[in-house]
Amino acid sequence: MNLFYLIAAVCFIIGLKRLSHPKTARSGNFIAAIGMLVAIAATLFSSGKLDLELIVIGFIIGGSIGALFATRIQMTEMPQMVAIFNGFGGGASALVASSTFLTPPESNFLIVCISVLIGTLTFSGSFIAFGKLQGFISGKPIVFKGQQFLNALAFSAIIILLSINNLGILDSQSIFYAILALSFFLGIGLVIPIGGADMPVVISLLNSYSGIAATATGFLIGNNGLIISGSLVGASGLILTNIMCKGMNRSLANVIFGAVGLEVASGDGSQKEMNIKSYSTTEAAMIMDAAEKIIIVPGYGLAVAKAQHVAREVADTLEAQGKKVLYGIHPVAGRMPGHMNVLLAEADVSYDLLKDLDEINPEFEDCDVALILGANDVVNPAARHDQSSPIYGMPILDVDKSRTVIINKRSMNPGFAGIQNELFGYDNSIMVFGDAKDMLNDLLKEIKEL
Ligand code: NDP
Repeated sequence: MNLFYLIAAVCFIIGLKRLSHPKTARSGNFIAAIGMLVAIAATLFSSGKLDLELIVIGFIIGGSIGALFATRIQMTEMPQMVAIFNGFGGGASALVASSTFLTPPESNFLIVCISVLIGTLTFSGSFIAFGKLQGFISGKPIVFKGQQFLNALAFSAIIILLSINNLGILDSQSIFYAILALSFFLGIGLVIPIGGADMPVVISLLNSYSGIAATATGFLIGNNGLIISGSLVGASGLILTNIMCKGMNRSLANVIFGAVGLEVASGDGSQKEMNIKSYSTTEAAMIMDAAEKIIIVPGYGLAVAKAQHVAREVADTLEAQGKKVLYGIHPVAGRMPGHMNVLLAEADVSYDLLKDLDEINPEFEDCDVALILGANDVVNPAARHDQSSPIYGMPILDVDKSRTVIINKRSMNPGFAGIQNELFGYDNSIMVFGDAKDMLNDLLKEIKEL
């Protein structure tokens, strides 16, 4: 059986490697899925006492729900789906670990509790993250006095319960159920104070937790497949968390100790007066006509409007007119890591034109037009200088250094972090209001006619 787990592990590792580039990501996902199928089949067939009929029914029901979600879900709702999947992963690990404790022979109590703690915490925390992103719960940080103290108390209680297990003060079952309840509470307590711009860090951290829970459960039931896949999820989730922390300017320690987002508010609270210049698409097209170098900056609004295809058509037309066109991709633009890369890849934008933050920022200084399509927080210069801003310190795309900044969005409403963007009032900024897809369709017509 270990040979099959080895094959599965190789598939996972190749899959992960290929996921690191949009060109190979699709096949990477497929290879990893094959690996998981091999691991599941090996586990099922090696265990003679399983009821295969029930498993096939579970496989069909679970597979259908998964397929339905995967095909129906909008690209903008992907983080919610990831949050739910993390939650189910953590919950499944906690259930398996619980069953090894509740049915004889009893397993190692400490590992059972570690698995239940991380799995249950991931379950409840992920569902809170889902509720926040889906709008069932306020996306703003929910804070009250003594909150961090309560979390610390719950965690300390778990440690104390674990250490008194062999002293005969309480029986193991009571300790087990108390840890289960406290872990559930801790998951909620850790995620509710986090809001706004910090949510991506939470999602990738919970992803890592679900892997750690699976690994602990793998040790309990002696399943190498689960240990390997759980470790890979745990490690890659942590690496992603680290990348997201850098993108959001958060330290990993700050995330782990649950202080994330406590200070998320609307900057210094004041709405500053800004000189907004609203231009028509025709005027924007004339500015583009005179430009030689244009950088397109996509954001969440582009995804909402499903405007990636027409954005590519606009870029192709401009290139055909002899202009240099690049795309500036911020690591947290949109609502999930790599969101913009995936969207633009879907619209067949050449990968060579997609530039990440470090590559594109030096390019803005000699850029004629930065065309912002439904992006807001990731181009907010307040992140560079306004210490009262919740996004202070977050690396941003330096679009304001371009000769002209054309910003397309529907209104003056804020982005995800809920704060005003001073860029919109800069002397070199102009706004072209409207839905990104409609605006780009109009722009396409205009630039073709010029
Ligand atoms: P923002 O959320 O800051 O702004 C998006 C803008 O798009 C809004 O201001 C909105 O303005 C505009 N918009 C919405 N619909 C349309 C439309 N149909 N046409 C045109 N514009 C539209 O997006 P960014 O990409 O700049 O920043 C991402 C934010 O999301 C960051 O704060 C990041 O921290 C956070 N985040 C990122 C995650 C990730 O992993 N990438 C995960 C979770 C959160 P208006 O309503 O006026 O049109």
